[in-house]
Amino acid sequence: MSDELLFVNVRQVVTCAGPARARRGAEMDDAAVREGVAVHVRGDAIVGVAHEAELRASAPGATLVDCELGVLTPGFVDSHTHAVFGRARYEEQELRATGMPYMEIARRGGGIHASVRDLRARSEDELFALAAPRLGALAASGVTTVEVKSGYGLSLDDELKTLRVIRHLADALPMRVVPTWLGAHEIPLEYRDRENGRREYVDRLVHEMLPAVVAERLARFADVFCEPGVFTVEESREILSAARDAGMGIKLHADELSAGGGAELAGALGATSADHLAAISEAGIRALAAGGTVATLLPATLLFLGKRDHAPARRLIDAGVPVALATDFNPGTSPTTNFPLVLTLGVSQLRLRVAEALVAATVNGAAALGLADRVGQVAPGFSADLALWAIDDVRELPYWLGAGRCRASWTRGKPCHPRDLGLAFSR
Ligand SMILES: [Zn+2]
Repeated sequence: MSDELLFVNVRQVVTCAGPARARRGAEMDDAAVREGVAVHVRGDAIVGVAHEAELRASAPGATLVDCELGVLTPGFVDSHTHAVFGRARYEEQELRATGMPYMEIARRGGGIHASVRDLRARSEDELFALAAPRLGALAASGVTTVEVKSGYGLSLDDELKTLRVIRHLADALPMRVVPTWLGAHEIPLEYRDRENGRREYVDRLVHEMLPAVVAERLARFADVFCEPGVFTVEESREILSAARDAGMGIKLHADELSAGGGAELAGALGATSADHLAAISEAGIRALAAGGTVATLLPATLLFLGKRDHAPARRLIDAGVPVALATDFNPGTSPTTNFPLVLTLGVSQLRLRVAEALVAATVNGAAALGLADRVGQVAPGFSADLALWAIDDVRELPYWLGAGRCRASWTRGKPCHPRDLGLAFSR
C-alpha cells in the first residue's frame, strides 16, 4: 500500500500557514483558511496543499481520503494536562457548590493530596490503563499532540513511576505525547509538618529528583506551581534554573489566584510558557512579552470552578504576548477532554476572535511545547497532524457548544481517533 494520502473533497482547510514560530498580536488573527484545496501527505509529513485537480494529477498512487465536504484543521495541541491520575474527584464538586472552602475540602481528605495518595497506591500498569482512554478521548476531540505532566507522585519513586507511564503512553499511542516533570506541584503532606520541611523538599527536587529525571531522559520540560502558599518565586527560580542548566525546557503555573510575581519570573527566565495567569499584573504581561514566553490560558478550569475572573487575553495579545489555549485536563479542577469546548470558552469568555482561538490551539500550542517548527500548521514540511470535522464552516467549531463534531484525526499521517474509548476512564 502507498504511504501517500490525499485528503480530497474538503470544504475548508484551516492551514494556519505562516512563520514557524509563536504568533503575536495581529498575526494571531489569521488562520489562513483555504477553500477548493486538497492536502497531500507522504509518510509522516505534509508535502502539498493545492488545488485538488493538480494534486490528483501529481499523486496518482495516493490513497484518497474523502472528507465528505467537512472542514480539515491542524490537529490541536493540548499543551497543558495532568492526564495521569487515579480516580476521579467528583465528591468535591458538590462541596464546592455548597460553599465549602478548598482548605476544608483538603482537610477532609480531598484536593490534590487525595490524588497523591491514590496515585502512590497504584502500579504503572494500572495508571497506564486509566490514562490511555483519556488520551483517546482527547484524540477523539481533535487533539493530536498532548503534553502530560507528572505531579501527583511528589516522591522520587512516584514521580519516576508517573513519568514512565507517560513514556509508555508516548510509545503505545499514535498521538504525540510530550512529558513534563511537575515534582514541584505541591509540598507533600509528609514534609509540611516538619521544621524545614519545605526546604528539605526543594532540596530533594533539585538534588535528587531532577538528576534522576534527567538521567532517564523522562521529561522534556520542568514545571513549577508558583503561587503564594505553594512554591514561592525564589523557590521556583531555584528549581527552574537547575532544570534549565540540566538542559530541560521550563514552564510555570503562574498567577492563577493572585499576582505573586510568577509571570515576572517566567519572563525573566525566558520560560517556554507561563500557564493560567488569571491574576497576572501589568508588569507580568510586560515580562512575558519581553521574554518571548507563551501565555497558556485554561478557561475550562475557571468555568468548572464557577469563577469569572478570566485571564486578560486581549491585553496579553495587545502587549505582544503569544497566547495558547489548553484544557488543563485534571481530576480536581478541569475534568474535561473536550478540546472544542475550550475554543468556545476562548471566544465567549476570553473574547478571542475565532482565528485567534484557532491559532492559540495550534501554532501557539505547539510553540508552548517547543514544536512550532514542525507542528500546528497544514503546510509542506509539517508533521501530518490533522483533524476532520463534520461542519460546513470553521466558525462552527467554537459555536456548537459542547458538541463532538470531530470525525477523525491523524498524527504523523496515522489515524489516532479511537473508535472504542474503553471503559476504564476514571476508576
Ligand atoms: Zn496545571
